[in-house]
Amino acid sequence: MSDCLFCRIAAGEIPATRVLESERTLAFRDINPQAPVHVLVIPKPHYADLAGLAAADDGLLAEVAGQAHKVAQSEGIAETGYRVVFNTGSHAGQTVDHAHAHVLGGRPMTWPPG
Ligand code: 5GP
Ligand code: ZN
Repeated sequence: MSDCLFCRIAAGEIPATRVLESERTLAFRDINPQAPVHVLVIPKPHYADLAGLAAADDGLLAEVAGQAHKVAQSEGIAETGYRVVFNTGSHAGQTVDHAHAHVLGGRPMTWPPG
């Protein structure tokens, strides 16, 4: 989708600090980090949210989850622990309608989240 921010990042039309890439996924640093490590993992094809990505049923959601763990390993937070979040819909604060996993870590996370 040409008017989607994350599609444009995936296409290289908008710059981002890329940390990990596969044929079908891309991981890049969040522009407004909420933790010492804050990386977004996206499927390159456009899905509006987690439900759409899950419904694709082609293993892409599992690949995004696997890439999230690889990011945690390469960022050095796999041992200390990390959080993976898919904000979905307005109450969760989803602001970009292209499915993305937040990988957050490098400090203790509070629970419940705000
Ligand atoms: P959401 O609020 O939809 O769960 O997450 C969207 C995330 O995208 C936010 O954490 C926000 O900081 C990040 N973001 C928004 N615009 C950009 C951008 O242009 N580049 C990068 N790297 N991150 C962005
Ligand atoms: Zn998109």
